[in-house]
Amino acid sequence: MKITSAEFITSAVGPNQYPTDGLPEIALVGRSNVGKSSLLNKMMNRKGLARTSQKPGKTQTLNYFQVNKQLYFVDFPGYGYAKVAKSIKGQWGKMIETYLKQRKELRFIIQLVDIRHAPSKDDIAMYEWCKEIGIPTVVVATKGDKIARGRWLQHTKVIRQHLNMRGDDTILIFSSETGQGRDELWSEIKRRLYE
Ligand code: GDP
Repeated sequence: MKITSAEFITSAVGPNQYPTDGLPEIALVGRSNVGKSSLLNKMMNRKGLARTSQKPGKTQTLNYFQVNKQLYFVDFPGYGYAKVAKSIKGQWGKMIETYLKQRKELRFIIQLVDIRHAPSKDDIAMYEWCKEIGIPTVVVATKGDKIARGRWLQHTKVIRQHLNMRGDDTILIFSSETGQGRDELWSEIKRRLYE
């Protein structure tokens, strides 16, 4: 994917702050440190864009990045700050729930999990929540370079099983270090948005 423009647009905590131009949105979710900012920067070919736009400290916002004037990546707060299973009723949960349930522009979720580990309870809760609401999920196993290629299939199987992945949901392997999976993820995005 050739990136002609990538910019941080806004931080939103509720619907009156979401963009109004109607472009399709893809939300990214995962626990803190899973490699979400690194993936975003790699996808957009912009070193530091995702990280630098994030407000320091614990500000919990949905961060909008516009790519090629065509779509938005919506970066969710990592769940290190808020345990998904417990805080679905809390402030984090309300902001996310409002977005997931009401946002017509949302086309699917990219859920990041570390390829090395079985998904956590929070990962499973997040996946289930999207299934209940009816949002398709693309699971991305991050940090693919941290395990040998020969073990990728086995690890993705474990992730698939623990999440009880279903329907048309897919899983891809990604590495921000090597660029592995970048083209595949862009193809998957284009397929889901435009085909
Ligand atoms: P975030 O909290 O989910 O946004 O995670 P970051 O993108 O900040 O990454 C957390 C840590 O993991 C950083 O030290 C990154 O350098 C590292 N990291 C992220 N992606 C990869 C990857 O694909 N491979 C390796 N080896 N390290 C990664």
